[in-house]
Amino acid sequence: MYGDFQKFLQKELSSIKEQGLFKNERIITSPQGAIIKIESGQEVLNFCANNYLGLSDNNELIEAAKKSLDERGYGMSSVRFICGTQDIHKQLEEKISEFFGTEDTILYAACFDANGGVFEPLLTDEDAIISDSLNHASIIDGVRLCKAKRYRYSNADMNELEKCLKEAQSQRFRIIVTDGVFSMDGNVAPLDKILELADKYKALVMVDESHSAGVVGKTGRGVTELYKCKGKVDIITGTLGKAFGGAIGGFTTGHKEIISMLRQRSRPYLFSNSIPPMVAGAGIHMFEMMNETNDRQNKLHKNVDYFITKMKDAGFDIKPTQSAICAVMLYDAKLSQNMATNLLNEGIYVTGFYYPVVPKGEARIRVQLSAAHETEHLNKCINAFIKVGKELGVI
Ligand SMILES: *Cc1c(COP(=O)(O)O)cnc(C)c1O
Repeated sequence: MYGDFQKFLQKELSSIKEQGLFKNERIITSPQGAIIKIESGQEVLNFCANNYLGLSDNNELIEAAKKSLDERGYGMSSVRFICGTQDIHKQLEEKISEFFGTEDTILYAACFDANGGVFEPLLTDEDAIISDSLNHASIIDGVRLCKAKRYRYSNADMNELEKCLKEAQSQRFRIIVTDGVFSMDGNVAPLDKILELADKYKALVMVDESHSAGVVGKTGRGVTELYKCKGKVDIITGTLGKAFGGAIGGFTTGHKEIISMLRQRSRPYLFSNSIPPMVAGAGIHMFEMMNETNDRQNKLHKNVDYFITKMKDAGFDIKPTQSAICAVMLYDAKLSQNMATNLLNEGIYVTGFYYPVVPKGEARIRVQLSAAHETEHLNKCINAFIKVGKELGVI
């Protein structure tokens, strides 16, 4: 039987390649960091990781992970409610609640699971989910698994959101769902206006802080800190896989009844393994580090300002950003690929994005800044952009 299916897959794969959409994995042979080694042996400056606070190779976290490995073992071999919870898993949940100023937290293997398992246990076909059109794939999948009526508004478009809210008034409960930071442009959801509308039209609010937690706001508490509305968002989801050390793990945090219900009914929690003790132990230490100092946030914010100012001065077209994501607009798909290739030759690792990842005619290079970057790294990156940009006629 496989023969026919194999031919079908081979044809599909060729067609993906012909369209120039085939994703090749980039292989690195060093820890994640500002400087990484790639397969060719070349050392390059990394500007395409979610390592916003530079914690992926942090020695304190490595030590905390090793200590938990020694004291609590390698794996949990169980889901939480059967035999998979240690004291450190509970402690990590408390740390997360403390960080966001919420009542309770539930851990998942990844934020993909947190989003996949948040809607179906809470809402039914009597309810409505109103979702931003640029929300992460995991939110889209989570919504699909739930029978609630679906509404969609254009990215951050508050007129459209209001229209959806009006239409959804006959439903029992309504929830507005948004990413905190949208990963392609780096823009922040207009949470102040979303909360106003939620109040007016009686809706719950959920924010996915995956790209914003640790990054946005003076102390990195995320979008709720930026808009001074801590405690006003009903559900926050997030990842330990980006700014918070970059290993693995996700969470949902919010009102205690919501979290209790998820522990009873959320399928990725009930039917999937617990995070390993070393991730829980290192996670606890990471949140303690966050409480001690905002130095990493300060450095990251300074790096973002510096990079954007210099790039604009050089004549590049930069999308407005309120995060550590900086979209250098090129508009042309081929140009974005050539630019990324030439930048790699200059020792700068960045990613070119084009349709269908971003809208047609909006190809770009996405630069992700980190507290791990020193000024000399930023200068090297900016100078490479200027050199390659001139060669390719961008500036
Ligand atoms: C990265 C990301 C996720 C997935 O997080 P994982 O923990 O890697 O599964 C979910 N939502 C958003 C908005 C993200 O950016």
